Amino acid sequence: MHPPLEDVSINSKGAILIASEFAADGPCTERTLFVSHAHSDHIGGLRRKGGGRETLCTPATYDLACYTLGYRPSGVRTVGYNKPVTYGEETLTLYPATHILGSAQALVETRFGSIAYTGDFKQPGTPILGADVLIMEATYGAPIYRREVGDAEVALVETVEEHLRDGPICIYGYTSKVQEALAILRGFIDAEFLLDSACDKVAKIYLKHGFKLPKYNLLDQEKVDGRSVVFKSLSKARERFQGTKIVLTGWAPSLVTRVEGGYMIRLSDHADYDQLLSYVEEARPKVVYTDGWRSSYAKVLAKEIENRVGIKAHPLPR
Ligand SMILES: [Zn+2]
Repeated sequence: MHPPLEDVSINSKGAILIASEFAADGPCTERTLFVSHAHSDHIGGLRRKGGGRETLCTPATYDLACYTLGYRPSGVRTVGYNKPVTYGEETLTLYPATHILGSAQALVETRFGSIAYTGDFKQPGTPILGADVLIMEATYGAPIYRREVGDAEVALVETVEEHLRDGPICIYGYTSKVQEALAILRGFIDAEFLLDSACDKVAKIYLKHGFKLPKYNLLDQEKVDGRSVVFKSLSKARERFQGTKIVLTGWAPSLVTRVEGGYMIRLSDHADYDQLLSYVEEARPKVVYTDGWRSSYAKVLAKEIENRVGIKAHPLPR
C-alpha cells in the first residue's frame, strides 16, 4: 500500500491524522479538521483556537457542540451527508452514523486509495463504508462486551408503563440519551412529559434538526403528579425522588437492573464487540486502525480483528 494511506496516526492532543489534508476529532491547526459528533471527547478541535484551517461538521453537530461549549466557535463550515469537500488532491465525504443527533462517518479519497473513519457508531443503522484503510472506534472492543439478545427500547417502554401506575417516574441520562429515550416513549406512553431546563435546551436542538419528539413541557416541580414522566440530566441521578427512578446507562451486565429507588436500563449508543467485528468483516479493508485515544480497548480490538477476521490491525497511538 502507498505510504500516505498507511501513515494514519494520532497527534499528542487526540486528533486522528488521515492522509495529508485531514484530521479528525482533536485539535490540529495544520489540517482541515473533521468533528464526527458532539460528545465532549470529540470536540476538542472546536474549542477556541488561534488561526488554523477550517473545521467541518454536520449542522446538528455544530449546534450541539455550541450548547456544550457555551459559545459558537468560529472557523466552522457545516456540511451535510453525501456532499464531497475537496482539499488539495483529497476529497472528504460525510456519511451518517447512528450514535447521537448529527453523528457522521468520513470517507477520504486520495489518488492512492481511500480511508474511512467511523467515529462513534451503533448498529443497526450505520452504513458500512468500504475503503482500503478503516479507522474505527473501540469503546466496546473487548470480548466481555457482548450484549445478550434483548430490546432496550421495549424494556424502557415496559418499565415506564408498569410503574407509572404507582406514581411519577424520573428518567436520568446524559445529553442526547435523554432525548433518545423521550423519542422511544412517543406513541407508547400516555403521560405528561416534563424536561428539566438542560434536557429542554438539547431537545430544542433535536427538534430544530427534524428529530421527532412527543409534546413535552418544561419541568415545574409543583406540577409533578402520578401522570408525570420527568427527564433530568444524569448528574441529578443521586437525588431523592418520590416515585420510580430510571437511570439510562451505556453499559450494564443486563438490559434492566434493579437498583435502589428504581432501575438501570442499558440503552447504548455504541456497537458492541460482535458488531465492531462484523463492521470490519463487511467493509473488508486492507488494514484497520483502532482509536485508543478515546477507549482502553484499542489494543484488544486490534488483536481480535487480526485473529478472528484475518485483517492487519493496529491500535492508535501505535
Ligand atoms: Zn460519542
